[in-house]
Amino acid sequence: MANILHADMDAFFASVEQMDQPQLRGKPVMVGGLAKRGVIAAASYEARAFGVHSAMPTAQARRLCPQGVFLAPRMRRYAELSARIREIFYRYTPIVEPLSLDEAYLDVGASLRLFGSIGEIAEQLRAEVRERSGLAMSVGGGPGKLVAKIAGNKAKPDGLLIIEEHEVLDFLHPLAVSEIWGVGPATQAKLRAMGISTIGELAAAGAAELEAELGRWGPLLHGLASGEDLRSVECDRGRKSYGEENTFPEDAVDEEVIEATIIAHAHTVAGRLRRDGRSGRTVTLKFRPSGPGRDFRLFTRSKTLASPCDDGLEIAEVALALWRAETEHPPLRLVGVQLSLLDGNRPLQLGLFKSEESERRDALNRALDDITRRFGDKALQRGEGSI
Ligand SMILES: [Mg+2]
Repeated sequence: MANILHADMDAFFASVEQMDQPQLRGKPVMVGGLAKRGVIAAASYEARAFGVHSAMPTAQARRLCPQGVFLAPRMRRYAELSARIREIFYRYTPIVEPLSLDEAYLDVGASLRLFGSIGEIAEQLRAEVRERSGLAMSVGGGPGKLVAKIAGNKAKPDGLLIIEEHEVLDFLHPLAVSEIWGVGPATQAKLRAMGISTIGELAAAGAAELEAELGRWGPLLHGLASGEDLRSVECDRGRKSYGEENTFPEDAVDEEVIEATIIAHAHTVAGRLRRDGRSGRTVTLKFRPSGPGRDFRLFTRSKTLASPCDDGLEIAEVALALWRAETEHPPLRLVGVQLSLLDGNRPLQLGLFKSEESERRDALNRALDDITRRFGDKALQRGEGSI
């Protein structure tokens, strides 16, 4: 059954700028690092028509689109809108797994009885996000995360595409292997050497042969290509820590971008803590430098506060101080902020449903039981190390 949605805002940072500054609407807008080695974080669809895309060096974008508007990111504003959008998600299901400020998986399987079909839920979500944030969001749906995410990408901009279970193989098999998240140039080259370029060819290959070439990743890929996608949507319930992190499309060297990202993560973590009625004392900054000799090691720096905190500004200040205290500031591949040593554990909040009729409450309780049966152990064990 198709029960998983992937929701993704269209050209998020650039769309926010066009919404906040109406004179920018219809113009090519690029948001990113403006310093010498800066990288584009988001490009409006008008800018994409010039061949600009996210992760492109800003210098190259300026050559392609000299008449474009180039803006530094305002991460705090994006985090604020991100929190507003996530609140909408939680009206439809408690099982939300945020992937970044503008992207999340939702498991709506247990909400179908309350809200109708998965397509109806997705349409309502899109309409409500548009109404309350002013922004366009594309949604993909399917029986697994991979299909939902690819469908969402195909639906862009401002679209919706649901792939039902019986359509999965027909949908996946003609696509290039690079559509599978995590299949980068190196894996693509290995697969190409085996004569594999489409997901269908990947499914037809032998799992053992793939394992010999790609290690443990091989059989996993084979399973995904065959429509086996058992990864559940991981939500916050029962967590021991709350974290947000991101991998930069290209190594981040711009201090302004790094610090703005840390601030945005701090605000997002704080919002999730408050939503669940929790607070935490230990702030951890995680970062993964890149570059020669650094070996992509993950560094963590922590500070434990005197009293529990759920305030984004305070978390941001601590995380920024940890970053600024580093003697070296190498280019970063990844940065994250995590809160642990948590206080309080209010039962799952479902404010929207409180005033609903008892029949609906019963349906919801059944839905929650269903969720617990399906995800209970996994959801409860998740936490440590999952920033
Ligand atoms: Mg997006």
